[in-house]
This record gives sequence, C-alpha cells and structure tokens, in this order.
Amino acid sequence: MAIQVIKEKCKGCTLCVKACPFNAIEMIDRLAVINEKCTVCNQCIPACKFDAIIKTEETKKGPVDLSAYKDVWVFTEQREGKLMNVALELLGEGHRISREIGSDTKVCAVLVGGNVDHLIDELYAYGADLVYVASDPLLERYTTDGYAKVITDSIKEYKPEIVLFGATHIGRDLAPRIAARLDTGLTADCTRLDVNTGNYIDYLDQYTTMNTKDMDRNDGNKNLKQTRPAFGGNLMATIVCPTHRPQMSTVRPGVMDKLEKMQGRKGARVDLKPDLKQDDFFVEVVEVVKAAKQMVSLTEAQIVCSGGRGLGDASGFELIKKLASAVGGVVGASRAAVDSGWIDHCHQVGQTGTTVKPKIYFACGISGAIQHLAGMQTSDIIVAINKNPEAPIFEVADYGLVGDLFKIIPEIITQWDKE
Ligand SMILES: Cc1cc2nc3c(=O)[nH]c(=O)nc-3n(C[C@H](O)[C@H](O)[C@H](O)COP(=O)(O)OP(=O)(O)OC[C@H]3O[C@@H](n4cnc5c(N)ncnc54)[C@H](O)[C@@H]3O)c2cc1C
Repeated sequence: MAIQVIKEKCKGCTLCVKACPFNAIEMIDRLAVINEKCTVCNQCIPACKFDAIIKTEETKKGPVDLSAYKDVWVFTEQREGKLMNVALELLGEGHRISREIGSDTKVCAVLVGGNVDHLIDELYAYGADLVYVASDPLLERYTTDGYAKVITDSIKEYKPEIVLFGATHIGRDLAPRIAARLDTGLTADCTRLDVNTGNYIDYLDQYTTMNTKDMDRNDGNKNLKQTRPAFGGNLMATIVCPTHRPQMSTVRPGVMDKLEKMQGRKGARVDLKPDLKQDDFFVEVVEVVKAAKQMVSLTEAQIVCSGGRGLGDASGFELIKKLASAVGGVVGASRAAVDSGWIDHCHQVGQTGTTVKPKIYFACGISGAIQHLAGMQTSDIIVAINKNPEAPIFEVADYGLVGDLFKIIPEIITQWDKE
C-alpha cells in the first residue's frame, strides 16, 4: 500500500504536513509531496479537507531477483555491552544453515550499539565469519527508530538471503518493522529452521500451497523452512518465503545450540556507516527503569525445578523452592499454576512462557500438556514426578517417579544433600 496525493485536488493548505507524525510530507511548489519516511499510517487522509490524499495499491514491482541475495545474517543483540545468549545460539544455528546452503555462504553477525567493539572477538569465537558493526552514539540505547533504520539500510545495501533475530522483547519489536520496510515476510517465534536442499516443488505439497506462477519461478531454490507452533500448539506449521528476500525469522531463546567457543578464531569486520540524524528518532528514551520484581533467568539455568497444578495451592511452591535451592536450580511453573495466581508469569515454562533447555528439568505435578512440552522437551534430562502413571509427561521423561510429590520431593532433597 502507498499514500498518494492527487495533484489536481491539493490546495497547498499544509494541514497534512501538520498531521503527519513522521515528517513524511513536504511542500514543493505549494503541493504536498510524500517522501520516503512515509509509513502509510493514514493520519494525513482524514486531515485533508479536500480529499486530495488517498491510499493506493503500490504499482506491482517485478519479481525479486533471488540470486542477488547471499549469506545468513544474525542480529546479535547486546544489552549494556553484553551479548544476549540467544545471539550466540543463533550464530550456531546460522553457521549450520549457511553450511547447508553452500560452502561459500557466510554467517554474519550484525552488531549495533554505542561502543561495541569489545564484543567482536566473542562473535568470531562463536562462529561469525563476518561482523557488520554499526557504532554510533545515537545507538547507545536501543530505540526502535534508530535500530530499524540502520539494519534496514544495511540489508538494502548488502542483500543477505536470511536474517535471524532472537524472539526477545527487542527482537520482536524490531524484526516486523524491518520486514515491513523491506516488503518481505517474517515468521515469528520459530522453534526449528531447515534448508530445503532439494527441488522446491518436491516439498511444496507437503508444506504449503502456492500458485503455479510462484512454483515455476522458485523451482530449485534453497528456501528456509521455518517451523513454529500453530493453532494453540496443537500442530507445528512450516512456513516458507519463496518469492521475497530476505527470509526473516525470530527464534525463541534456548532452542538452538551455540557452537563450542573457538577461542582465538578470527573473522572479518565490516563497518556500517549509520546515516542517522536526531530527526530520525520519533521517540526519546528518557530513562530505563528495570522491573523491580526479581527476574528469573530460566533460559540460562542448568537445572529448572517446575511445579504445576499438582502442588495444590501457592504454598506448594515453597517445596519447589526448597528443591531448587538444594539442587542449585531455578523455579519454573506450568501455566495452570501461573493462571491460578500461585506464582508470577516470569516463571512460566512453555509455549506462552519461556523455552528452557537445562541439563536437568524437574516437572513436579505437571501433566505434560503439549503447550508445556513445547517449552522444555529439549532439556537434556527430564525427571517427572506425578501420581498418575498415565500422565503424558512420562512420555518425554527420562526418569519417571510415580507417586505423591509431597513425599517424593523431600526424599530427593535428603538424598541430594547427602551427595
Ligand atoms: C494457547 C495456549 C497456550 C498455552 N501455553 C502454556 C504454557 O506456556 N505453559 C504451560 O504450562 N501451559 C500452557 N498452556 C496450558 C496447557 O494446555 C495446560 O493446561 C497446562 O500446562 C496444565 O498445567 P498443569 O500440568 O500444571 O496442570 P494439570 O494438567 O491439571 O496437571 C496437574 C498434574 O498434577 C498431577 N498431580 C496432582 N496432585 C499430585 C501430587 N500430589 N503429586 C504428584 N502429582 C500430582 C496430576 O496427576 C496431573 O497430571 C497453554 C494452553 C493454551 C491453549
């Protein structure tokens, strides 16, 4: 969609200029002209008293030249000069995907911030072949406007084939804006990525429906198969973006594997030249206030002890906290426990909570609904405690303890303390 000014009707009254929050309308020879800052927010349309502004279908562009796009980019999110874990996980996944696409495909980190040079070696060590660095005082703190502009401009210039973001608050804010500006697709919240290495038509029937024109044009292309839970987690949908580039995904933290750190590994650095002016920022960050509540680092934890409705009431979590403290873990919860108000949402594991991948996951009084499993089933070892021997959680458990959790957990604590 685009905004268009009907020249014959425009009276040069400037009402639309005042209504536009993005400085996207200029007066040239007493005529309103829409510039590249337009986001099609529509504010100008009702502001015009002469019906001189309309929304139109953009003239159909020609097909995207898919062969012009190359390499896998990972937005390597940093906060306060520290890389987010998911950035390193995505470098590992990007490395795997890039090798599947072809040996000349590089995995590239995109590093944005105020002064971020000290992070570059770490990115090489975790698999980046190339690091694109956008360093500017205006990027010191995350802002949607600044980051979206810099990354969009760089994608237009370098044309990566795939761009991955962590499904963090920042990644979820940033990725859709960039995708919209680039007129490409975005699959949010992926839990799995693969490359279609065969003929596109071979897997088309299995995964998606396309019109014949698209099939012909994409025959033989290596598309990214992006898998995410759909319909309340009851099935996994695999989505492709066959006719636009780049292919963009946000990926849940804790799902992909980091590479083993390769200390001393070197790559190449490319300095991006952010073309930023104060004018590009529509929002000013006055202060960053961290949430007062205790944050739970479920994604980083080696051991997670989760409780569900089987705990009976909120006091049941005292026992889970004792277990977590004995084994050196953090407390997780099922949605049923969270919805009952027994514990804060930040502890929730699952499809609408956090995805975890600890070395040991204790599921205590949790039945094992598919939405819970979606957030913990890739844990290294799963220990389930449930009084119902038929509970689905036992199907994914490595160790299943059938019985009353109020008897079993104190016994585990005692035995663990003896070790
Ligand atoms: C769109 C959508 C998103 C969702 N997202 C999530 C999510 O992110 N995370 C999530 O967890 N759920 C999620 N759910 C909810 C999910 O479907 C289940 O309802 C929920 O996981 C059930 O929680 P539970 O296992 O604690 O409770 P229940 O299913 O009620 O299971 C309680 C278990 O405790 C056992 N038990 C009872 N007493 C004891 C005892 N004394 N000792 C041992 N065992 C005992 C019972 O045998 C039972 O198996 C979502 C649902 C939808 C529709």
